[in-house]
Formats: sequence, structure tokens, C-alpha cells
Amino acid sequence: MELIGHVKNYEWGKLGDESYVARIAAANQTDGTFVVDANKPYAELWMGTHCSGPSLVKQSGLELGSVIRPQEQPTYLFKVLSIQKALSIQLHPNKMEATALHAKFPDIYKDPNHKPELAIALTEFKAMCGFRRYTDIYSQLQNWPELQALLGADEIAKTNVPEDEENYEVREVMRNLYSSLMNLEPEQLEKCISSMHNKILAKPEKSSLDQLFLELHNDFGSDVGLLSIYFLNVLDLQPGQSIYLAANVPHAYIRGDCVECMSCSDNVVRAGLTPKFKDIETLLRLVEVKSASPESLMCEPIVKDPKRQPYTRTYCPNDPWLLEFSVSMLTVPPGVNDYPITNGINGSILLVTAGKGTLRGNVKNITVQFGSIVFLSSEAGAELQLWRNSEDLNEEFVAYLAMQREKV
Ligand SMILES: [Zn+2]
Repeated sequence: MELIGHVKNYEWGKLGDESYVARIAAANQTDGTFVVDANKPYAELWMGTHCSGPSLVKQSGLELGSVIRPQEQPTYLFKVLSIQKALSIQLHPNKMEATALHAKFPDIYKDPNHKPELAIALTEFKAMCGFRRYTDIYSQLQNWPELQALLGADEIAKTNVPEDEENYEVREVMRNLYSSLMNLEPEQLEKCISSMHNKILAKPEKSSLDQLFLELHNDFGSDVGLLSIYFLNVLDLQPGQSIYLAANVPHAYIRGDCVECMSCSDNVVRAGLTPKFKDIETLLRLVEVKSASPESLMCEPIVKDPKRQPYTRTYCPNDPWLLEFSVSMLTVPPGVNDYPITNGINGSILLVTAGKGTLRGNVKNITVQFGSIVFLSSEAGAELQLWRNSEDLNEEFVAYLAMQREKV
């Protein structure tokens, strides 16, 4: 059945037609009820049954959750994001921590669930995540006497170790450095950032990190999150590349459009680039300070069935705790008129981002194109066919398919 996604107009979203979310939403609601306002931010499109933004069945207007069977209720929330201004630096607790935090502070941690996230770039996508290699952090900090004075040059020097010498003690020194950073007094922060800002402005040639500093400074002023760019990896993803954010890994989406899938939870511990509440104590206790190379944070998709489904790549994060979802990207090239699509045991949600075709299964055929969102119920069958007319064949067909993860 066809769905209408729920649009969120958070202020960090891209404006008007610049936003992928707006373009998808406008194409989805072909009856003209969705009009894109050039001055309005369109940040997120939600596909699923989350109570803060449930998807509606196109034909009836009913909420998706009310018309599907209990076992078909998605264990995940599927989204499109269009980001103009960075989101807060954050991490998500694991299940055990989430349960404890929810019991203790139900107003802040509203549910007992973990929130692993997978983001697949739709356009060039910039994100910050995971601690850099320690030698890299060390060399970044050498450029800034302001930070050395505040954090202690001797302490910083202790962390200058290669990956194979990074042990528990060194990580605790790093945790303490990060802790000192997060606990700086507002005046110290203001002075430090203003001095760094002036130096960067005066540089005749600015590095990409300098540019990022200036952009974030412009949007957030003297926010402590600004200094995280020297501690965390900054990744530039190309369309199709993805990152997986396991529990406790600090991250922030900075700019671009992506498809995102996550388990249903609202548990966020914030660490900067936000005026919202920062639970520093919990953050410093949970934050994963183990260094990670940018490559190790990326999730390489695999072709599970190269013979029958050579154009289906599945993102399978290597995380035993992730049970709620997996996402596949289908890129069916021009000229292929018949292609099998595997459905989840408990159904799946399909989002089409290019091309046109007809879905044939055990239920009524559905014509899909850019902007179509379809819930494939288990009744539709374990496998559906994407069938394309001769006039649809000169285009590539691209879609993203989210479903509950098979037991591994
Ligand atoms: Zn997150």
C-alpha cells in the first residue's frame, strides 16, 4: 500500500526546493496538497509508525500502524534528511544504559530503547563521528596553543601514541582531556574560540577544517562542539556511501541529504552544537573514546545474491546488538525490465528516488516513481517483481528498502 510520509520542518533543514525532503514529499503527494514554500526548512521525512510522526495510508488517510498486523509493526524508523545547518553532536546509549537512564530520568530519556543509526548519503554528505586516531588528534592540537594551555600540553603529549599502543590508560587520558574540554567555563571557551577564530580569519589559505570551523562558528558561536572537530573524524561521504553509528559513538551530521534508518527511540545524549540540554556527566561516562579510522566507521554494502539480484546492495552493519533493521539500495540499470525484490518476513518499506516501474506481487499492482513510498506487507509475498514498460527502460531505477533484520 502507498504511504504519505510525515515531514518535519526543523530549523536546520534545507530551504524549499533545495531540500531533498521537500522534493520527495511534493512528488509523493501528486494531488497537489503539498506545496513547497521557498522560505521554509524541510528537514526530515519520516516513514514508519513512530507516534510523533506516523505515516498515513494514501488511499484511506489512516495511520499505517492501525491497518497492519502486530507482527508487521516496523521495529525501525526510516527517514530522509536534508541538512543545511549541523545537528547537535550526540551519542546514543546502549540498551542496558537506556533502560537505566529511562528509569532514573524519564523526562530526559523517554524510552528504554537503544538507537543505532545507519545513514546512507543521497548527495555529498558531511558528518563527524568517532574519535580520530590519537596521533592525528595530537597533531591537530599542536596547531592551537589556546587549547594546549586549557587542556595541558603534558596531558596531550601522553596521548600521542599509534593505534597499536592505544591501551586502557591512554584512553582514560583521552577521556580526561575530552572531559576537561566539555567542562570549560563559558568565559574560557569564549576567549579560546575567539582567538582561534581570529587566527583562522587571518590565514591566507584555509584548510577544509578551517572552513568547517568558520561555518560552525557562524551558526553556533562559541559552542564547545566547535572544538570537537579536532577530536572527531570528519567524513565526506559520496552518494551511496554510508556510516553506521553504534551505541556510544559520538557523531554529528553536518551537511547534505541522506536516507537514515534507526531503531524506534528518542534517547540522545548531547555534546555540543546545540542550545539544548547537555547531560555532560552521562556523556563523559558513556562516550566511546577508542580511536577509529574513517574507513572503519563506514558500512560497505554487500550483494547477497549476485546471480538473481545483482543490483541489490544490502548494508549490514557489523553489530550483534542491531536486530531492528537492515537497508538495501536497489540500482536497476536502464534496459532491465524485470527484477526481483525480496520482501521482509514482516513486510518492508520501499522509497523510490529515481526511475519508474510497477510492483507486482500477490496483492494489487502498484506503479511507483520518484517520491513513491510503499509498505510491502508480508501478504504481498516473499518476493515481488519490479516490472518496467519500454518507455521506462531508458532510466535507472533507484530505491531504498528497509526491513527488520534477519536473525544472524
Ligand atoms: Zn544520532
